[in-house]
Amino acid sequence: MIIHLKNSVADAEVEKIAQELDAFVVKKPEHHVLITPSALQEVPSRYESITEESFAFSSDIQLASADYFSETREIDINGVKIGGTNNNTMVIAGPCSVESEEQITQSAELMVEQGIKTLRAGCYKPRTSPYSFQGMGIEGLKLLDKMRSKYGVNIITEVRDTTHVDEVIEYADIVQIGAKAMYDQGILRTCGKSNKPILLKRGFGTTLQEFVQAAEFILSGGNDNVILCERGIRTFETKTRFTLDLCGVAYLKEYTNLPIILDPSHAMGYRYGVPDLARACTAMGIEGLLIEVHPDPSVAKSDAAQQLDHDMFRDLLKTLRPIAEAVGHKIV
Ligand code: PEP
Ligand code: MN
Repeated sequence: MIIHLKNSVADAEVEKIAQELDAFVVKKPEHHVLITPSALQEVPSRYESITEESFAFSSDIQLASADYFSETREIDINGVKIGGTNNNTMVIAGPCSVESEEQITQSAELMVEQGIKTLRAGCYKPRTSPYSFQGMGIEGLKLLDKMRSKYGVNIITEVRDTTHVDEVIEYADIVQIGAKAMYDQGILRTCGKSNKPILLKRGFGTTLQEFVQAAEFILSGGNDNVILCERGIRTFETKTRFTLDLCGVAYLKEYTNLPIILDPSHAMGYRYGVPDLARACTAMGIEGLLIEVHPDPSVAKSDAAQQLDHDMFRDLLKTLRPIAEAVGHKIV
């Protein structure tokens, strides 16, 4: 249950009630927000006089629920706004990994040329094999920082584990929590204490309930800026890398208040399918698209098979803009 306590209630009293109800507390200027387990269905009568409003839920999807408020949350990433009434589809593009200054500079220049404001690239890569390229680490973050200063792009990069979560929060404009890291409660709780926008990817074996509950870990820590990312789940099908769950996206749009970004690159796993999927995703009227693009995919150190080259990306954008427009959105 979510309980809005009047802001006249003293902090010490709020803490005492939170302990009694086993609740998280998030302080807002208008009121104190208490989030209890969803099993609680009614405000205990002794707190009624200090309660402004309350909301009961049928599961632990609470802060993210469209029953709490139905409008998609607005997230402002240094002036680039998604959700709310903005109707923007934010393209996040760039290579899978930062590999060198030359490579990431070429990527940043492509974003500037195409009017795209959000550059992605991983520095801590969650590889399936310990023998594969693991990312440039802090040196990569410094290169991304340089790209932001030089080209004025926002930076999104991923956190792999808790050893570098603070570093990534410091350097990134949007912190990405990957499909494998999304169960790490150390990462989720640390991101909950920050106010940086968080892009939470769905694990490939994660139900929608588990996915949104992972988002609740961040939201209940006090960070309102959570964006969900569907990037494909594992099914019986092996011809494609994963299966992009567009039904799941429809569910999330209907039942949650979180902005949604779609990642056709990791779902498909092969570049040939990415442009068609990106167009299909855009037609769903979503808050964003994540596309992997590399100056020379044939030499990419991770996810080489799925990254578009620069010309493919240019061609794709030309077709995305009218599709976004047809569903009342704008590519940013
Ligand atoms: C990525 O974005 O490069 C990545 C590793 O994604 P995922 O966590 O979805 O596999
Ligand atoms: Mn990748």
